[in-house]
Amino acid sequence: MLNPSDRTRSCATELVCRDCGRRLPLLDTTSKCLGCGQGLDIDYDYELAKARLAEIPPAQREINIWRFEELLPITDARAKARVGRYSGRTPLIHADRLGAELGLKKLYLKDDSTQRPSLSYKDRVVSMAVARLLELGKDEIGCVSTGNVGTAVASLAAKAGVTAYVFYPANMERGKARACRALGAAVCQLDGNYDEANRACRELALASGVQFANITLRPFYAEGAKTVAYEVVEQLDWVAPDHFVIPAAGGTLSSRVHKGLNEMEMVGLAETSATKISAAQAEGCSPIATAILDGSGEITPQTPQTAAHSIAIGAPGDGALVVDAVTSRGGSAAAVTDAEIFEAIDLLGATEGILTEPAGGTTIASTAKLASEGKIGAEETVVAIVSGNGYKTLDEHPDKPWAEGVACDVEAMSEMLQEFRRHGVGATLG
Ligand SMILES: *Cc1c(COP(=O)(O)O)cnc(C)c1O
Repeated sequence: MLNPSDRTRSCATELVCRDCGRRLPLLDTTSKCLGCGQGLDIDYDYELAKARLAEIPPAQREINIWRFEELLPITDARAKARVGRYSGRTPLIHADRLGAELGLKKLYLKDDSTQRPSLSYKDRVVSMAVARLLELGKDEIGCVSTGNVGTAVASLAAKAGVTAYVFYPANMERGKARACRALGAAVCQLDGNYDEANRACRELALASGVQFANITLRPFYAEGAKTVAYEVVEQLDWVAPDHFVIPAAGGTLSSRVHKGLNEMEMVGLAETSATKISAAQAEGCSPIATAILDGSGEITPQTPQTAAHSIAIGAPGDGALVVDAVTSRGGSAAAVTDAEIFEAIDLLGATEGILTEPAGGTTIASTAKLASEGKIGAEETVVAIVSGNGYKTLDEHPDKPWAEGVACDVEAMSEMLQEFRRHGVGATLG
């Protein structure tokens, strides 16, 4: 047992099965319900959380992932102190120039392309997984990754002094694998797609006893995503937005923003019941959007075929939770083509000066589509989540022309400048 001084302010109480409601102690290391095999969720004492949240005003709280630690699942203060100090609290940007293009006056971007330490939303969830690992007294962590879980695990494990093993599918983005090696992690590229890799890693986790951030530590991992909801609502002066547009892969981020919004209402931080959530996916991997748009609510697994690698999960573990989040809140979904995704990346770049990866392009293209379909109103306050950084993913970005072979003298350069002014920034010689 922890001494009181070694405890965080967490009000987490138990692990609870989402399906049959069976409860397990928080210390239990199983990640699936022993009764029905379904995923486990974390439950809290929300009355206690309400009281504890009122004890410390926001101005006196840490400006990082632990800001509202009452609603996070880590109870060991020593574990908490070693992770996530510099994560969380990314900017919320009023996208006036992009909004003008899309016909949305109150468009905001939650800019997790600047998330620390590894430039994607995954630092939020992996922070919780690594803190939980330390709480369990372990010193090795594995993960299976579409891209960004790997770099987040490599970074956060390095700082925590833990050995990391990153498993990628065959079609991994090489830049991210290189980054993992530079960050001191082992990288294993598997001969299969993400869903096959995921299944194999699940078996390896059981066989080896190695804790996997997004498999065995999943109930804790997922809780980190709620911090997006807490931050956005606070950044809007405790007035929840009308609409979130959220990129969905396994569905953790969208379903946990839903949970975070529900919790804010329960503990009296903000009224959030009118906030809608819409899911954004690439057409080449859109099992969640399809289930929402065809009205069935049934997830049919797909074989991914898209350049949006980091959100290419054909069999989304939290897909049913996303369908529930979207339908219960009255949102919708969009599936956009790779061409639309790359166009949206460039539009975001040229209007707001933010370079995102294809997952972020998916969000922006989906926001545009939902607005043009009238599923987002022109007057709504909309928060689109830019979940990852484009400087990591330029390998597959379509080339655009630039001027080459211009002589290094002021006359030739002035001529080129005239060309740019007359014909636009894509002008070239001759
Ligand atoms: C993982 C990821 C997402 C969303 O993933 P979920 O599994 O739905 O939580 C979105 N954007 C980026 C960049 C990601 O890496």
